[in-house]
Amino acid sequence: MAAVELRDVEKRFGKVQVIRGVDLSIESGEFIVFVGPSGCGKSTLLRLVAGLEEPTGGEVMIGGKVVNHRPPSDRGIAMVFQSYALYPHMTAYENLAFGLKLARTGKGEIDAAVKEAARLLQIEPLLDRKPRELSGGQRQRVAIGRALVRHPQVFLFDEPLSNLDAALRVQTRLEIARLHKELKATMIYVTHDQVEAMTLADRIVVLNAGRVEQVGSPLDLYERPANRFVAGFIGSPS
Ligand code: ADP
Ligand code: MG
Repeated sequence: MAAVELRDVEKRFGKVQVIRGVDLSIESGEFIVFVGPSGCGKSTLLRLVAGLEEPTGGEVMIGGKVVNHRPPSDRGIAMVFQSYALYPHMTAYENLAFGLKLARTGKGEIDAAVKEAARLLQIEPLLDRKPRELSGGQRQRVAIGRALVRHPQVFLFDEPLSNLDAALRVQTRLEIARLHKELKATMIYVTHDQVEAMTLADRIVVLNAGRVEQVGSPLDLYERPANRFVAGFIGSPS
């Protein structure tokens, strides 16, 4: 059974169609990267999986069930955005605990989940700091921690590194790769950066104007691009 499956998914905003007949099957534990130029529909496709948008056609399935009308909180997913969206008045600990509190998780269970996430992300010494007392990279780790504590089946990342400087981008990218290895979770990751895509992905989905141009491993796309668009985007000579 696929962890996430899209069946002929389309999305229109008014008359504008931004996602066109996307079919995609993602295996449990896969690291999938959506790439493509700005405006091609990467974020929209991710938001359709998250339930932040409803498809205007087709089906979104998670864990073998159609989730089209389920809210994000009922999909077993957690999302990390490019802007960290932390609560400024709360400590890192409270930021991590907040979603679990809303879900009426018990105090002991919350504490265990927060500490485990903090350990995985190596942010234990930072838990009593507020966001303004953290660097950009540390804030993004707290944001990832907020996703982690919920033990989602599927992690969704939308350009999580784009607000970081070059050195931190590399470090955080390695961190995400390590997490994927350790958790064996399904991850869907959006970027317009082909280096991120090539280094992180088990399989890359190349999008162009709301359509899938090609799906394949980094090596497949590099050695056998389906067309000029993919070749140009992946940067192999053709
Ligand atoms: P990407 O993440 O690849 O840059 P997006 O998914 O954000 O692209 O956007 C794809 C297209 O859909 C763009 O043309 C964008 O302007 C349009 N779009 C996205 N969200 C909305 C919305 N809520 N209403 C109208 N148009 C939207
Ligand atoms: Mg986007």
